[in-house]
Amino acid sequence: MRRSELFIKTRKQAPSDEESRNAQLLIRAGFVHKEMAGVYSYLPMGKIVIDNISRIIREEMNAVGGNEVLMSTIQRKEPWEASGRWDDKVVDAWFKTKLANGTEVGIGWSHEEPIVSMLKDHINSYKDLPIYPYQIQTKFRNELRAKSGLLRGREFLMKDMYSFSRSHREHDQFYEKVAGAYMKIYDRMGFSGITYRTFASGGSFSRFSDEFQVLSHVGEDTIYIDEKMKIAVNKEVTDQETLNHLKLDMGQLKEEKAVEVGNIFSLGTKYSDALGLKFTDEKGQQQPPIMGCYGIGVSRLMGLIAEHFADDKGLVWPENVAPYQVYLVGVGDSEQVKQAADEIYGNLTESGVSIMYDDRDERPGEKFADADLIGIPYRVVVSEKSLAAGGCELKKRTSSGTEVLSKDQLAERLKIPLQA
Ligand code: ATP
Ligand code: MG
Repeated sequence: MRRSELFIKTRKQAPSDEESRNAQLLIRAGFVHKEMAGVYSYLPMGKIVIDNISRIIREEMNAVGGNEVLMSTIQRKEPWEASGRWDDKVVDAWFKTKLANGTEVGIGWSHEEPIVSMLKDHINSYKDLPIYPYQIQTKFRNELRAKSGLLRGREFLMKDMYSFSRSHREHDQFYEKVAGAYMKIYDRMGFSGITYRTFASGGSFSRFSDEFQVLSHVGEDTIYIDEKMKIAVNKEVTDQETLNHLKLDMGQLKEEKAVEVGNIFSLGTKYSDALGLKFTDEKGQQQPPIMGCYGIGVSRLMGLIAEHFADDKGLVWPENVAPYQVYLVGVGDSEQVKQAADEIYGNLTESGVSIMYDDRDERPGEKFADADLIGIPYRVVVSEKSLAAGGCELKKRTSSGTEVLSKDQLAERLKIPLQA
């Protein structure tokens, strides 16, 4: 990508109406546009980051047998009435609207009811199960507090998977498999070693649900971690009864701030029963499938990655989610420099390295500041000085040291598979 062809503008100052640091940085660096509190649009580089995060999630969901779907945002009210969750007193985050003929409809904040209702057309027999549909889709929630930028949107991207199993045993096995897949996902996003599976208040079936919490100064949640066992308990469930049940000793637990990046629940037959979803088992008996639901905050992850890794110069994207691997800058207007930079851009692009080539007619200082603010992992500079020294200068976003490499050495260095 040539910077001259990218329409976004970066800014030195954060907009005064934005309180959250993740949104301030993402707006300044040209990744998102704020429409209103809790509602953001994604600009080209923001869209690439969302796609990179989604790709990692998709790979891990497919690896456990997921079937990707894309369900509608406009939802019928009947399935939600059947489960008792249409009432605003039960679910306070609903956005609702009406069709032209007056029919009330909901704007999806979750999809248990619609998916169970949909699957009545596709599940009959035990041979049709288990199944694991999932989607990456925009959710709408009328959140009271929407002051945390991408961490708490009124409109946000979620990955939601639903499992339909024939027995509790089959359900439990899959549930554990997803828990494992979740840890891989957070590892690949740069949160290795600081993500804790956390006991939290229960689903409708089990005593607990499992949250996935990333330890971070950004955190809104308080959790208590057991460093040896690598597990944690959400503050909301740390009463004596729970601690006894989990054989945890409050004296051994460490209080930490964390961000909930995912949440998995065992739902039992609550929704299958409410909506009449059944399958015929091997003995010819009608049974409700056992359900689980598995959420990941896709846009929340983008906000967390942005805020968690940022430094005083700007964003610092982990290589797996960065919009580009290299930010290429030519310094000065000599024809020789321009030619060398063009050639590096061409060669690296050809060998599959993604590059933002800052070909604008701007001062070098301006370009370097942008490279840092935007947070691309590697910066490559071509100048008369670097050419005289044998090539170009490579610098990692996270270190201050630079090294001079020939074109071939650079290609070799950046060819190492950057994607884990
Ligand atoms: P929270 O406790 O943070 O309000 P939740 O328990 O309501 O979240 P779920 O309904 O389980 O969340 O949603 C699954 C995941 O979606 C959460 O783990 C979180 O990462 C993300 N998420 C939930 N609400 C929001 C929101 N308003 N904005 C961005 N991401 C969200
Ligand atoms: Mg929660």
